[in-house]
Amino acid sequence: MITLQGKGVSSGIAKGRLSFLKRKSLSVEKRHVDDVEQEIERFNTARQSASDQLDALAATMADKIGEENALLFEIHRIMLEDADYCDPIVEIIKTEKVCAEYAVNTAGSRLAQEFAGMDDEYMKARSIDVYDISKRVIEMLAGKGQGQIDNGDPAILAADDFTPSETAQLDRSKVLALVSRQGAVNSHTAIFARTMGIPAIIGFGEFLSGDLSGKEAALDGETGVLYVDPEPTVISGLDAKAEQARREREILEQARGKPTRAKSGKEMKLYANIGSVRDVDAALAGDAEGVGLFRSEFLYLGRDNYPDEETQYESYRKVVEKMGNRQVIIRTLDIGADKQADYFELPKEDNPALGMRAIRICLTRPDIFKTQLRAIYRASAHGNAAIMFPMIASLDELLRAKNLAKMAREELAAKGAPFKADIPIGIMIETPASAVISDMLAREADFFSIGTNDLTQYTLAIDRQNDSIASFCDPHHEAILRLIKMTCDNAHKAGVWCGICGSLGADIALTKTFVEMGVDELSVEPSRILKLRSVIAAC
Ligand code: PEP
Ligand code: MG
Repeated sequence: MITLQGKGVSSGIAKGRLSFLKRKSLSVEKRHVDDVEQEIERFNTARQSASDQLDALAATMADKIGEENALLFEIHRIMLEDADYCDPIVEIIKTEKVCAEYAVNTAGSRLAQEFAGMDDEYMKARSIDVYDISKRVIEMLAGKGQGQIDNGDPAILAADDFTPSETAQLDRSKVLALVSRQGAVNSHTAIFARTMGIPAIIGFGEFLSGDLSGKEAALDGETGVLYVDPEPTVISGLDAKAEQARREREILEQARGKPTRAKSGKEMKLYANIGSVRDVDAALAGDAEGVGLFRSEFLYLGRDNYPDEETQYESYRKVVEKMGNRQVIIRTLDIGADKQADYFELPKEDNPALGMRAIRICLTRPDIFKTQLRAIYRASAHGNAAIMFPMIASLDELLRAKNLAKMAREELAAKGAPFKADIPIGIMIETPASAVISDMLAREADFFSIGTNDLTQYTLAIDRQNDSIASFCDPHHEAILRLIKMTCDNAHKAGVWCGICGSLGADIALTKTFVEMGVDELSVEPSRILKLRSVIAAC
């Protein structure tokens, strides 16, 4: 038996034959051309056909991989029109007098390498997208359709890497699992595999050698281990794990659609934490009763300038619309500390977590803040939105933030833009100061949501980014629990509800404690919701 360790990106157990992906071969020769203009025309025609194909895929794949995921094909189409992608191709055809296939392959590989070399994990993962669109154009130039994966009988499919198009178009009935030498946790391949429920492990490197093709294998997508020629004891261990997971899923499914109620009769709400429109499908699939934390700052990251009101409005509107009647709590900009965007030109600080971040930036730069607030208010016309301010540490900060929200409403009203003026405005309790004065804050806030990640960092003076001191961090520290209790009591005295949106909310060792404290809502990763509902039911 050979045991290989990779990075599990989609959980599940699989057993079967290892089959290396057979792609229709794409040979790209460097062919000289005399008529450069005609070759550019050839490239543009192929690009247009690839674009049309992507349009059709965006429409037809929604059922299989979800509407949000199918948007990837729309993104690929936009990439195909991007000057950063096309101009170098045309330039190579012109200057080197070579065929379009060679130019697409060369320029596409260069751009893909640029992405692969980026620090940001999300951008790094876009490298395979560039490869994917280049492959599609080259196939068009060669007069072939996009290479459909030909994987014969059901098998564990192996490859260097899978393009998102390949993954999305897999015949699920013939794929037991995916394993690859390369890949990124944030790649669309990983996302699609999770959406389609295909176990997947990436990053085996050269250990996943072609010699293993045809061998019997078994894998655990959770631990990221692949066993080639597995011993009977390994197989029986994996079988038992798969059976237990199946039984657990069956039991958890019984909690779907049910109200969240403890034995004591205490009703709670189970909301989802999301970071983008893309996550809404997972929130709905996880049976979220609402969105308790939309980390809106992700709209500001990975770009080189501020997102304008329209861009933000579109994102908020989509989330709110997709969630229907369910509440969507949009946390206003929480940039700074570990989430940096260069164009904010924030000062270099010795202690960024104690520096210019979140509400402090918003109060210092009211125009940026009001742009976001107007976008949220406009989106409120399409559903059930709420606003939440992060990192509040004083009553004055809350009043100033509320005043800016009022100004944003007045600006929209002056323009005659439709919006709901009375959506709830809540705050995050993530500083010890805000927990201690929660009685005062509760008179001015419509709800509280406790951000235990930061509350823990600031209460215990333990930098949440610093792994070397993690052993000093006791997430169940009595000080944290007392602050949560105090916040909850003060909220209830003032007649406002109190939830938890930090990671502690999903800690089932504390669920009973939270129920007893009277916590009204837990906002957690979508995949934790059904489990929590069943735990709460037993409290
Ligand atoms: C928190 O601090 O608990 C929280 C939910 O906010 P974030 O993790 O985004 O800082
Ligand atoms: Mg926080």
